[in-house]
Amino acid sequence: MTACNGCGGAVATRFDRVLDPQTREEFTIGVCEQCGLGHTQPQPEDLGRYYGAQYHGGRHRWRVPS
Ligand SMILES: [Zn+2]
Repeated sequence: MTACNGCGGAVATRFDRVLDPQTREEFTIGVCEQCGLGHTQPQPEDLGRYYGAQYHGGRHRWRVPS
């Protein structure tokens, strides 16, 4: 993982593999150990794909493959 985008602190891996329910793509989720900022890697190039018509402003849900 890389340094935090917010504070530059160490980013710890929270989930190795998560599946985006809309795009069916897998990501790694990391959380900064200092400020708690979440990081998605790889960083999506077009965030609109992930917050499309189905998105109503609620918390984005991740499903961890078993
Ligand atoms: Zn941070």
